[in-house]
Amino acid sequence: MASAGACMRCLSRLPSGTGAAALRSQRAWLPATGRALGATTTYARGKRLFGHTSRLGERVVKPPKTVPAEELTGKAGASAASNVSHKAFSDVAFAFDIDGVLYQGNRGIPGAREMLRAIHALGMRYVFLTNGGGAHEDAKVRSLARRLGMSDDEDALRGRVIVSHTPMRGWADSVKEQTVLITGSHPETARQIAIEYGFKRAVTPADLIHANDKLYPFDNLKESLHSQFRPLPDGKSASSIEDAYSADVPADALRIDKILVWNDPRDWSLDIQVIHDLLVSHRGYLGTVSSKNGDATLPNYGWQQDGQPELWISNLDLFWKTDYPVNRFGTGAFVEALRGVWSAVTEGAAELQFHALGKPSEYTYEYAHERLLHDYGDAGSVNGAQLQPWPSPPPQQQDGSSSSNEGNVDGTRHPLRRVYMIGDNPESDIRGANGFAPADGTEWKSILVKTGVWRAGTEPSHRPDVVVDDVVDGIVWALRNEGVDVTRETLTGGGGA
Ligand SMILES: [Mg+2]
Repeated sequence: MASAGACMRCLSRLPSGTGAAALRSQRAWLPATGRALGATTTYARGKRLFGHTSRLGERVVKPPKTVPAEELTGKAGASAASNVSHKAFSDVAFAFDIDGVLYQGNRGIPGAREMLRAIHALGMRYVFLTNGGGAHEDAKVRSLARRLGMSDDEDALRGRVIVSHTPMRGWADSVKEQTVLITGSHPETARQIAIEYGFKRAVTPADLIHANDKLYPFDNLKESLHSQFRPLPDGKSASSIEDAYSADVPADALRIDKILVWNDPRDWSLDIQVIHDLLVSHRGYLGTVSSKNGDATLPNYGWQQDGQPELWISNLDLFWKTDYPVNRFGTGAFVEALRGVWSAVTEGAAELQFHALGKPSEYTYEYAHERLLHDYGDAGSVNGAQLQPWPSPPPQQQDGSSSSNEGNVDGTRHPLRRVYMIGDNPESDIRGANGFAPADGTEWKSILVKTGVWRAGTEPSHRPDVVVDDVVDGIVWALRNEGVDVTRETLTGGGGA
């Protein structure tokens, strides 16, 4: 199994263009492994926790202020928001997980729509922070809007979604010039998204098997899953190398600089084969084998020590929740399979070195935090200023510098005091929020809901600050924790009671 130690060795080799300094400063950002959700010990079912000390130790200490119901319902709209001046609303923010929090399967959580409209009308800052991926952020907005019965151009939704691979938007242009292998559930879709992010040379496994039919001598999926392909970039070839161990690499040989697992792949066999081939290669030239592999005098027994491409995984979720009664495998399951093969190939001598995005990685929380800090459009509406949507791409580069494409954002951070993460997955949502301590001192608190993958009544693998029935109760709890006297009924206008 990979370990945080192995990860830190990875980080020490990161080029500056991928934000190495920012990444190195993070602690234990790569989990050792995913694991099954829902432990076996009994977890006491909590009652409604508002105004009480929760079973998980969170104490609500502030006396609530009364907020008129019309200010908390979407019915009041912007006029209500403009009258609200609670400090809590300007320096408190929310990060919502989506799947299992705002909807279950195809069904929106009752009251979630009204709640979102209400906090938007109040000018509160929030993002949707999901480990989902493989689709463009706008597509995720559309699917969320459909399930919640909202319009996908509502300001309460648009411009707020951060999917697992969204942080790649902020990567430096020099990185986006590199040749990357992209795979996922729909590699061609992933490539198109990557191009929209600014990547110039994205290659899919389908490109490779159509460029060299000896690379993977099975054609079961060649005309279906892998039917969409493009010529290799810059006239490169995937078949010009004949001797895997020769140091004389032809000039037209394809070299891959990075491997990006965009989301959960469908053809594990091909993808594990190709990723393996690149991780054992000489400097990422497909069809070569490094002479350093297995060299006990080198770190990691010589594996991944010869300029092979970096492996980036968009998230490590082992499971995800569908309408099927048993949780389904996610991208983390693919990584576990890859680790297993890697262990066999290296005879257990080497750890698989890779970088992970998505919750619970601090990298992703840092990205979400920066988005919230720069979100002055909504906060401005409280003070009567014009409401402005977020720019796209988001304002922060991966190395922490300002982006040259900041749209409406003036580069100013608008301080936060507290952010509430509302999630259904203790292993990602709760773990990430509990472990995240941004440098500006903002407190991140965790709220676990019962509507998703976590099974109520079991001990969560990572304890939240509070357990609530659903996302509406989560926001009610958070607002009461900020001293605002609000109920589920006033927050939703009765729409989610
Ligand atoms: Mg979820």
